[in-house]
Amino acid sequence: MAINKKSALQEKQGVSQPETTSNFAAQQIIKSRSKQFSVDEFVTQILAGDIPFLSRAITLVESTNATHQQKANEILERCLPHANKSIRIGITGVPGVGKSTFIESYGTYLTNQDKKVAVLAIDPTSSVNKGSILGDKTRMEELVTDKNAFIRPSPSGTSLGGVAQKTRETIILCEAAGFDTIIIETVGVGQSETAVHSMVDFFLLLKIAGAGDELQGIKRGIIEMADAIVINKADGDNIQNAKIAKTEFNRALHLYPPKESSWQPKVLTCSALKHNGIAEVNTMVLEFLQLTKENNYFTKRRNQQNTYWLRATIEQQLKDNFYKNTAVKNQLEKEIQNLENGRTTPFNAAKKLLAL
Ligand code: GDP
Repeated sequence: MAINKKSALQEKQGVSQPETTSNFAAQQIIKSRSKQFSVDEFVTQILAGDIPFLSRAITLVESTNATHQQKANEILERCLPHANKSIRIGITGVPGVGKSTFIESYGTYLTNQDKKVAVLAIDPTSSVNKGSILGDKTRMEELVTDKNAFIRPSPSGTSLGGVAQKTRETIILCEAAGFDTIIIETVGVGQSETAVHSMVDFFLLLKIAGAGDELQGIKRGIIEMADAIVINKADGDNIQNAKIAKTEFNRALHLYPPKESSWQPKVLTCSALKHNGIAEVNTMVLEFLQLTKENNYFTKRRNQQNTYWLRATIEQQLKDNFYKNTAVKNQLEKEIQNLENGRTTPFNAAKKLLAL
């Protein structure tokens, strides 16, 4: 399958990018920006699968403006009954492993089967500097012009928690808009993998074969989270190495206790570039889906994730409200000084601040 090098994105090189990489959507947003739409209009259009409205609703979700947030919440609540009918797949791997090439290949494979694929990203670095690790400008050139695909770069935010919450909400909107496959991409920065794992059904670790040191350099816990390890770039001279890596990972995976899902994590090889092994990845995901739907783990885990996010949101809100409080802000500096001068203890200072 040839990659369409004439993507609209390339034609626009040098021009600042819109919030969404879906060009058509972006143009529509700009056109409609002057007009304020009602929650009703938003919901009707999102449920009809209207991409510009979906994009605009996500912009509301990502906004820090209180009025926007209020509107976003109303839209979300009304979309919620129409969400959930999807598979959510998390993909992680170090920069250069081939995540965007893989997502392009797998995404196109799915849209060719009339699936609707939304690609979201969690990149906590995007708020630190403008050039995020998951830079999206030249990525997924074919998928970006595919009418059955929707690609949205990582929301920016000061905390991973904030970024993750926005992504969670964006998933709901995408599902309500009829996207049946949600792919969430991340790089292993900080706890971003854990955040993605806590919002997906299937977690896929992308690797490349090295020189026999496959297991090195993998953060502790990632293998435990993985439902599959896919060794990419299994092409050309690299095929043999990929096979060796596969054996090693398989051996390593057997050292871990069985998963609650009773799914035995799998190791596959693929070439995202040559589109080899992609169908096998999909077959594996479908097997996982069948197993976990039959044994009810699928629903159980989504419920667990909802509870987790409920608690996480409460904690985040409490913290935010606390630090936003003017009395707290004023007193905090004083208490820090008191601490430095040995006039109070951390516990007394905290107690006093919390009482405010
Ligand atoms: P990301 O940083 O993880 O998103 O990685 P990219 O998808 O940008 O890929 C990094 C580089 O690896 C690019 O030059 C790709 O063309 C190349 N690449 C990706 N997948 C494959 C593959 O399956 N085989 C080969 N040979 N190269 C690949």
